[in-house]
Amino acid sequence: MSCVFCEIVKGNLPAKVVYEDGHVMAFHDINPQAPVHVLLIPKKHITNLAEEVPVELAHALIRGIRHTVERLGVKDYRIVSNSGKGAGQEVFHLHIHILAGKEMPASTV
Ligand code: 5GP
Ligand code: ZN
Repeated sequence: MSCVFCEIVKGNLPAKVVYEDGHVMAFHDINPQAPVHVLLIPKKHITNLAEEVPVELAHALIRGIRHTVERLGVKDYRIVSNSGKGAGQEVFHLHIHILAGKEMPASTV
């Protein structure tokens, strides 16, 4: 089954890349929900957090958040990862939404 984020990783679909290393890639969301809305993904296809994430990759994702927000020049940000259809997941390749650039409400839903 073709996966839009795998196609971005392979360079077959364009994306505005913010940060990239051997394990992860961060690019601007095509339909931003905040002034800054970036998606951080593992390069390896993992469906969502219901799947086993190797420890090295888990570390790379956490580190990738820090590198991405440094590149973006934002200090305060929110991260969200929808896991499963009922949680609003539409692209079934693990991704962490990084949202910033406006005052966020304390409530997350
Ligand atoms: P989900 O609802 O699965 O948590 O979030 C999927 C996100 O991927 C959405 O915010 C949507 O705008 C974004 N998205 C879907 N297709 C593309 C694409 O081809 N390129 C980029 N940059 N973002 C995409
Ligand atoms: Zn994929």
